[in-house]
Amino acid sequence: MPDPTYDLFVIGAGSGGVRAARMAASQYGARVAVAEPAALGGTCVNVGCIPKKLYSFAAHYAEAFEESHGFGWSGAAPTLDWAQLKANRAREITRLNGIYGGLLSGAGVTVLRGSATVKGPNAVEVNGEVHRARHILVATGGWPVVPPLPGSEHAITSNEVFDLKDFPKRLLVVGGGYIACEFASIFTGLGSHVTQLYRGEQVLRGFDDDVRHFVADEMRKKGVDLRTRSDVASIEKAADGLRVALKDGTQVVADSVLYATGRAPNTAGLGLEEAGVKLALSGAVVVDEHYQSSVPGIHALGDVTARVQLTPVALAEAMVLVDHLFGAGQRRLDYELIPTAVFTHPNIGTVGLTEAQARQRLGAVRIYRSEFRALRHTLSGSTERTLMKLVVADASDRVVGLHMVGADAGEIVQGFAVAMRAGATKAVFDATLGIHPTVAEEFVTMRTPVA
Ligand code: FAD
Ligand code: NDP
Repeated sequence: MPDPTYDLFVIGAGSGGVRAARMAASQYGARVAVAEPAALGGTCVNVGCIPKKLYSFAAHYAEAFEESHGFGWSGAAPTLDWAQLKANRAREITRLNGIYGGLLSGAGVTVLRGSATVKGPNAVEVNGEVHRARHILVATGGWPVVPPLPGSEHAITSNEVFDLKDFPKRLLVVGGGYIACEFASIFTGLGSHVTQLYRGEQVLRGFDDDVRHFVADEMRKKGVDLRTRSDVASIEKAADGLRVALKDGTQVVADSVLYATGRAPNTAGLGLEEAGVKLALSGAVVVDEHYQSSVPGIHALGDVTARVQLTPVALAEAMVLVDHLFGAGQRRLDYELIPTAVFTHPNIGTVGLTEAQARQRLGAVRIYRSEFRALRHTLSGSTERTLMKLVVADASDRVVGLHMVGADAGEIVQGFAVAMRAGATKAVFDATLGIHPTVAEEFVTMRTPVA
């Protein structure tokens, strides 16, 4: 091989790329470069997890003020200053961009500001200059997809929603996945009138059916006009807003139309196919268990491989790859039992198998389910309810699925994910004392399986 300049050239400074670059350089002394044309940190930091969660916090205050009356607080309802929320969010994101820059330079990683193109198994071009590397890592993430339809140019995506100039008093959300459900909840909380359209029978395909029905009901109770088996025919700009014609012949008028209909891998124009890298029909880079593409020396991970599109997964994949390329090569990532939360209001937290998956894979299962009003809401006046569910394999007594819809479900489920990774059985759950009075204690006090 001709004298390569870098041991690792990373394309994209998002969750996976930054982690791989930093670990390869700081833990193994590898010579690493990373190319990035946009703000450091990628989707999660700039237009994903972080700003989304900040807006979710903002939205929860509205209901907290409302609920405080039942606890003796009084006073006029405060109003949202959208411009201030946007400015405060932007300031925090800029701070995080700086931290990412500091982490990379501190690890000795060369950061090249520009778009990269692959020029062969060991060559990458940035700003007209070709760099050589022993290994190339494609960590270019994904980009929102808006299906073609008349007037689609009037639609926005999650990339634009954080910085809308005017607060959307009427928001139409299209889709029924993570992003659609989260933003329908968040903007309802912030004070928008939200209509959400989902083309199928029930939102959040792939989640446990009880969770899907339960969260849809809770979202409706909080004010989301959630319509299933519903889709857009066309969008037209009019004097009173965006006129959205639906396929059933009805119409919705909105200030903004947010499309959250999935994300496509960022591989167009990257030079991958020219270099012989096999792409799936979706454009995703096809990789093996070591994240190697069909071309030795070119690797890919995170959203660009279109498998599990979550930040902790991209981070974990980066650690496995770096260990494989520069370390002992012992690390593996187990794609079972990946905990996840959907930051709807209330949140969903889940880990392991849905009831349907467990029945299909394991046969006999026991289901424990509890649905109740949390103690807080005995005084708050809120009608919000909580759902908790355990799926237990009959033969082994192992808890194979744990699902929750309720306040802070993500926070609660994280700890239970550790127990499940350790192979906890229902007997172990039963032997665990609750923390009283909490919502989480319900997971260790459910004793009778449902029929
Ligand atoms: P990214 O973080 O997308 O990084 C890819 C980087 O590559 C980008 O910076 C891009 O500019 C750069 N790039 C692209 N092309 C080139 C090129 N040619 N040359 C150089 N650089 C290039 N996940 C969670 O776990 N929890 C959440 O709460 C959550 N919320 C989300 C909310 C939203 C609205 C969205 C959109 C996503 C959310 N996700 C969440 C998913 C999470 O953001 C992604 O899974 C994660 O960012 C993927 O990391 P990545 O490294 O694969 O790609
Ligand atoms: P998802 O794949 O989760 O959902 C896409 C939704 O759009 C589905 O309901 C899908 O319906 C629907 N859809 C797809 N195509 C069309 C179409 N042509 N017309 C109408 N509806 C359509 O994608 P998202 O964009 O919501 O999010 C992308 C990924 O980002 C998520 O899967 C998740 O991995 C990650 N993410 C994680 C978050 C978290 O961890 N909290 C938060 C946000 C994103 P159908 O089900 O019928 O296919």
